[in-house]
Amino acid sequence: MTTTTDTQLFIDGAWGPAADGATIDVINPATGEKIGNLAKAGTADLDRALEATQKGFAKWRATSPFERARIMRRAADLMRERADAIAPLMTAEQGKPLAEAKGEAMASADIIEWFAEEGRRAYGRIIPARAPGVHQLVVKEPVGPVAAFTPWNFPINQAVRKVSAALAAGCSIIVKGPEETPASCAELIRAFHDAGVPAGVVQLVYGVPAEISSYLIAHPVIRKMSFTGSTPVGKQLAALAGQHMKRATMELGGHAPVMVFEDADIAATAKTMAMFKTRNAGQVCVSPTRFLIQNDAFEPFVETFVETIAKVKVGDGAEQGTQMGPLANDRRIPAVEALIHDAVERGGKLLTGGNRIGNRGNFFEPTVLTNVPTEARIMNEEPFGPVAIINRFSTEEEAIAEANRLPYGLAAYAFTRSAKTIQALGDQVETGMITINHLGLALPEVPFGGVKDSGYGTEGGADALEPYLVAKYVTQAYA
Ligand code: NAD
Repeated sequence: MTTTTDTQLFIDGAWGPAADGATIDVINPATGEKIGNLAKAGTADLDRALEATQKGFAKWRATSPFERARIMRRAADLMRERADAIAPLMTAEQGKPLAEAKGEAMASADIIEWFAEEGRRAYGRIIPARAPGVHQLVVKEPVGPVAAFTPWNFPINQAVRKVSAALAAGCSIIVKGPEETPASCAELIRAFHDAGVPAGVVQLVYGVPAEISSYLIAHPVIRKMSFTGSTPVGKQLAALAGQHMKRATMELGGHAPVMVFEDADIAATAKTMAMFKTRNAGQVCVSPTRFLIQNDAFEPFVETFVETIAKVKVGDGAEQGTQMGPLANDRRIPAVEALIHDAVERGGKLLTGGNRIGNRGNFFEPTVLTNVPTEARIMNEEPFGPVAIINRFSTEEEAIAEANRLPYGLAAYAFTRSAKTIQALGDQVETGMITINHLGLALPEVPFGGVKDSGYGTEGGADALEPYLVAKYVTQAYA
């Protein structure tokens, strides 16, 4: 069955086409076929969105945090109720298996709920005064209208973190959603609207990313921006935000190291991480990429990892039993191929995969490279595909040095039974997140973000609300 998806702009509480009627084709990455039309915003649409967002901000900041939370919880319920209907849309436009798509819709509900409650705890404080009769207050206020830019790998999850934090803080928001995967992101916005978020509080637009970001970030109505995507684009947008003195949150690329020490459960780790590598076909900013395996564990780890990953069932995400779908867009195929060819040319060993599957849809074999030299591009650039690099190390110091070698610092993984090593890893690995002996990232209540070239700011946990708030100082005395 073909799922068709037409998506319009959502401005001032209503869905509609672009003012000039322009559209963008939406393609199913499993078939290469067009499955829908997406409204493409121009300047007139953005001006309308900005005007609505400004009015929406006045309304929403005046809505009590208690009422905001009530509406947001209703949106979470709607996402759960609609998850079965949303999943096929996401699979048709993004490619991931239905179970992953449904899981994403369900997880978004948890995120909305968590932020709904956290917004009720945006406490200020009272600072003891030097003079009698003076009260010095710190009051948390919403920063103002937000512009958010979200990518195609998790069409709902990347958007929900930004929308939920903004709404919980009392901000209005314009989301520039992912053009490749618009319909499922639109369902998230629909849930907020249907739950009772007033007109103008949330806008959803699509178009030419660079045109929209340069227009919105520079616009005086917008007070904060948040971007999830690649490091090069993030650096451009951060510069633009700086030029216009806008607050910015940057969730950028990664190149996650996975350190496996000889004392770990090697077979279990290899199985778990091989499956985890293929999640969303490796198009995940925290995807495990540089596997660093201690000497004696290397051979058994590689054997089990290759055996497991080679059996992963690749296919149309809409088909029963598919474990890994296609890459989300056709530009990922040459990008991933080029990185693999370069690694092999420089002496890396290709143990499995390495090729596109067929010539219909963007299917790619799960791929394992070993003994890849440090100078190879793939050791330095994010593959953003189903490719694992497995290399050896001898000492703890060597593993940590390799983990910290790159300018990226998003996620890291480690497996060991040594308390000393666990402590050293926690202290010395330069990433925003490290998960040791289990997979424990990306829950709503824990921080999610990177350091160094992976960006700044966090999109999870209590700290994620702060960037949407300003601390205003009010001092008052008896008249
Ligand atoms: P890209 O760098 O062209 O785009 C990445 C994302 O940024 C897309 O969603 C795109 O629409 C958006 N974008 C691009 N230019 C923009 C601009 N000037 N203003 C606003 N948004 C803009 O790359 P791509 O081919 O779409 O994706 C490949 C790379 O992007 C990957 O290698 C990966 O590093 C990165 N990426 C990261 C994430 C993440 O979760 N951090 C998600 C998607 C893509």
